[in-house]
Amino acid sequence: MKKIKKTKIIATIGPSSSSSSIMEKMMIEGVDVFRINFSHAKHNEAKKIIKQIRQIDNKLSLNTAIIADLQGPKLRIGKMRKNSSLKIGDEITIDCKSQLVGNNKKMYVNYKDLAKDIKKGEKILIDDGKIILKVLSSNKKTQIIAEVVQGGEVKSNKGFNLPNTKISLSPLTDKDVKDAILAIEENVDWIALSFVRKRSDIESLVKIINKKSEYSIPVIAKIEKPEALKNIDEIIKVSSGLMVARGDLGVELQSSEIPLIQKRLVAKAKKSRIPVIIATQMMESMMESVTPSRAEVNDVANSVMDGADAVMLSGETSVGKFPTEVIKTMSSIINKVENSNLISLANKRPKDQKSKRYITKSICFSAAKMANDIKAKAISTLTNSGYTAFQISSWRPSTHVLVFTSNRRILTQLNLLWGVKAFFYDGFESTDSTVEEINKIAMENKYLQKGDKVINLTSMPIDQKGMTNTLRISEL
Ligand code: PEP
Repeated sequence: MKKIKKTKIIATIGPSSSSSSIMEKMMIEGVDVFRINFSHAKHNEAKKIIKQIRQIDNKLSLNTAIIADLQGPKLRIGKMRKNSSLKIGDEITIDCKSQLVGNNKKMYVNYKDLAKDIKKGEKILIDDGKIILKVLSSNKKTQIIAEVVQGGEVKSNKGFNLPNTKISLSPLTDKDVKDAILAIEENVDWIALSFVRKRSDIESLVKIINKKSEYSIPVIAKIEKPEALKNIDEIIKVSSGLMVARGDLGVELQSSEIPLIQKRLVAKAKKSRIPVIIATQMMESMMESVTPSRAEVNDVANSVMDGADAVMLSGETSVGKFPTEVIKTMSSIINKVENSNLISLANKRPKDQKSKRYITKSICFSAAKMANDIKAKAISTLTNSGYTAFQISSWRPSTHVLVFTSNRRILTQLNLLWGVKAFFYDGFESTDSTVEEINKIAMENKYLQKGDKVINLTSMPIDQKGMTNTLRISEL
């Protein structure tokens, strides 16, 4: 029986991976989702990449998903003269109105209300925290003066983080809106938003999606600011997925705080039964080397054991030297650890008994528990919206979650979810023949074999495609 991993791999596309032959190899080695990073991708490139992915995916029949990742209000300094170095104790003027070329006395940042929003004593981090400044004063209009706390060379266009400042910038820049519209027109499966701070940031994006798309494209909140952590419960209520964006999170907070934040975010996402992605520096050394460090192998393994739906590669596949090998290595780490009985399974029954969907939720929970008890090999579900796939997957049964749907839109979308594999199916005649047919499809695709037990979730009467209300066990 072939081993099929349940934790998904997301690979960011870039110059190292944008040829069809490399993408195909990456898919064969275990990529489940491609990420298009709109911080870098131009519209014509993004369109071309989406077309290539869909073509290869059709050929391989894999249902690979695509995430469009919007840059959000990322702050950057302007151009700098060569060899502009800052020393501890130096004072530097930061201008937020005139786009001057910077040096060791002044620089520009693309945040026009900086002088209004920032307060004396707040921290400024440049170039992923390599350079640290402390605010001394502001003229409240165009400029602030800051003191260098940690120095170094400042290079053009580097990131500018304000971990303590209440930023008044809009959550979606004009560029984000244009990028989101392109992503909607190109039918991507998920849209991720960077630098989310509060619930309404996600709601603004959902509003654009609802206005521009006839389908509801699910939104992933990238958690990379302390403010988002403060508002996390409200953000989760309106998000369809979370990303633990450890890169910027590790700049804005002490990196020693990230491991527990990762665990808390995974637990919160699972409680709300939405997928969670662990991102950044997972296999960083494989950008240059064909083998990862021991610590990286442990990081990937521990993320799987924490309960991540997906682990994400950024530079490793976008600009690294080994985009195919890194997928192969990550797949083998996942395969090694994910079925261990050392991983504790979620086992608290859903609480919200008053909700309309409680019966469906309860059946999904019971199916996941029962699958472990009777040692079933798969749970299958018929769904139009994908709702039951989210529910079953988040209970992390010891089985695969096989989804049968006539809704082509969710075939690729569900590929981000832990353990989920979707199949197109549109024969809804009687429960008996449907169950027989879907079990046959599962066997043909090597998810099941003769003698296996499978739990089939359906809704009766079957032709009405209502809420899941039936659990049946088949022995093949
Ligand atoms: C991160 O900061 O961890 C991250 C995923 O962001 P980016 O989109 O910049 O890769």
